[in-house]
Amino acid sequence: MLVLTSVSKRYEGRGGLSILENVDLQVDRGQSVAIMGPSGSGKSTLLYLIGALDPPSAGTVTIDDVNPYQLNEKAQAEFRSAKIGFIFQDHLLLPQLSALDNVLVPTVVGKSAPGNVRQRAKQLLDEVGLGARLDHRPAELSGGERQRVAIARALIMAPALVLCDEPTGNLDRASADAVAGLLGAIHARHQSMLVVVTHSPALAARFERRYDLVDRRLQAVA
Ligand code: ADP
Ligand code: MG
Repeated sequence: MLVLTSVSKRYEGRGGLSILENVDLQVDRGQSVAIMGPSGSGKSTLLYLIGALDPPSAGTVTIDDVNPYQLNEKAQAEFRSAKIGFIFQDHLLLPQLSALDNVLVPTVVGKSAPGNVRQRAKQLLDEVGLGARLDHRPAELSGGERQRVAIARALIMAPALVLCDEPTGNLDRASADAVAGLLGAIHARHQSMLVVVTHSPALAARFERRYDLVDRRLQAVA
């Protein structure tokens, strides 16, 4: 379970800038949440804070009852690697590696990946429709295919929490629709917690709960 309690975020300097104020959010295992808001509203800030990448100025974040910001740096990195899968707007694949090896990257850094990782990576690439592209390098894949490799990579450690930052932001309409459908389907199968931030209502509509990030707070969308 993911729990945010009265989370605030300020950037200091130049008079200070308040981005989030007293944000509460709870996401249970198997739930998916979309957070919408215009550019600059603080979506990425919120996602990084949820993802144990950037601490809140006040309030607490817990993931499966652990507050990652109370861990030392090494334990925090291990926690992130074991518990959280990230999908960014840019796929961030390594250009010199095949699709299969890109999916395996988190298993090299992290400890104790589940089961036979190579087989699991192939299964995941198959699930995202790239079973016939295992040896292709990123330059030999389309934008949508690259993002699908990034989805498989995010799932390789079987994370409890999957976080997506504008995952379809760089794709054309058709590829964006395909990737959005895939995220929904994969989430249903893997039963992780999914948090997607996006300015796209079409993407947000795929998920169970929706919020708008308005005036530094989350407002539930009916
Ligand atoms: P979004 O992802 O919704 O476009 P961001 O979370 O990236 O928005 O940014 C929200 C606001 O916080 C923006 O006004 C941005 O300029 C500001 N901001 C982001 N990162 C920093 C930082 N490291 N220092 C100061 N201000 C920042
Ligand atoms: Mg952003």
